Amino acid sequence: MDAMEKSASTPAKVYFTNLRTHGRESQLDKLKRLIKRAGIGQIDFTNKFVAIKIHFGELGNLSFLRPNYARAVADVVKELGGKPFLTDCNTLYVGSRKNALEHIDCAYQNGFTPYATGCHVIIADGLKGTDEALVPVKNGEYVKEAKIGQALMDADIVISLTHFKGHEQAGFGGCMKNLGMGGGSRAGKMEQHAAGKPSVAHEKCIGCRACERICAHDAIGFEATRERELPSGKTREIHVATIDHDRCVGCGRCIGVCNQDAIEPGYDAAVEVLNYKIAEYTQAIVQDRPCFHISLAIDVSPNCDCHAENDTPIVPDVGMFASFDPVAIDQACIDAVLAQPAMPDTELTESRAKLEAAGVHLDEEHAHDHFYVTHPDTDWKSMIEHGEKIGLGTNKYELIEVK
Ligand code: SF4
Ligand code: SF4
Repeated sequence: MDAMEKSASTPAKVYFTNLRTHGRESQLDKLKRLIKRAGIGQIDFTNKFVAIKIHFGELGNLSFLRPNYARAVADVVKELGGKPFLTDCNTLYVGSRKNALEHIDCAYQNGFTPYATGCHVIIADGLKGTDEALVPVKNGEYVKEAKIGQALMDADIVISLTHFKGHEQAGFGGCMKNLGMGGGSRAGKMEQHAAGKPSVAHEKCIGCRACERICAHDAIGFEATRERELPSGKTREIHVATIDHDRCVGCGRCIGVCNQDAIEPGYDAAVEVLNYKIAEYTQAIVQDRPCFHISLAIDVSPNCDCHAENDTPIVPDVGMFASFDPVAIDQACIDAVLAQPAMPDTELTESRAKLEAAGVHLDEEHAHDHFYVTHPDTDWKSMIEHGEKIGLGTNKYELIEVK
């Protein structure tokens, strides 16, 4: 039976525990018990490098997973003989995680120090987001060769440790989003978000030509001009960069080298295509090696932890999930979140009120879909369906509660 047949017929096991502790056991101990019960010990960790893929949170955001959870998972990996490290890739946008130095600073400021977590932070795609492995995607329809952060591909074992939440483009941010989008190098993220070609904001460009020097494809020219104000107050005409999209291959190197943040990636992929590509990038990361997935549906914020702020949770805290199946764990988290009541005065209730005021009729399928109501332009089902289609996993699962 091949992977695609298996995924269609066999429910995956997803283990779940709520957040009650009855004063006996900490939630961290409960998390350790959950992942052991879910079978993490079936993986041979002996002397293996273990990438724990996590989101360190943008500076200013407070809904990312606390470092304590990373420590609990790293402790279990060490108990089992593995060598864990925490990892993520640099961002496409300008924020506090766009190169490895700033990214590590951000991780430390948010508490992910080796002292706190018991392991090191390695930014998987290197200093400027260009250290990547090209990985052919099994059953890939939209991505033939995913561009994955090299350190993530060099790891012997991958564990996703995901903050489950809403997402303004994907609909929900779960295991696949954490791995697929998060594990993409800068060029990989560009490929998922858009046709993969950046553009120059001429008003920011100072004509330094650093991008031209790094571009191996002769794609950057300087025919365009603009007026630039000098420190003396005088102005002079300068030549600014323009990218020829016929020559550009979307490698993203120019974005990392521009210290004016003048080169911007496109964000024009249709929401379904974005989700298909996220599923395919996840496939590239998990295929052919042991992987294990942990998702915590707590502080279920409406948007990604990439924002430098976080809005109030849209539903009450749900609990912790663990599985070997990245699609099943996402589906289980989605079902659990959709079963929750909406929290009052949140982006969810505000968006519902706006839809009602605009006279939008929500059919049965969408009326109770917290992700759709919060972000009506998104389509989370497309990621799940495509994950199933390419044999990444199944949305059929058996939920096993760990008391
Ligand atoms: S886009 Fe950036 S790197 Fe390129 S010339 Fe302009 S300022 Fe320099
Ligand atoms: S993305 Fe790569 S190929 Fe395209 S202009 Fe930038 S450096 Fe050149």
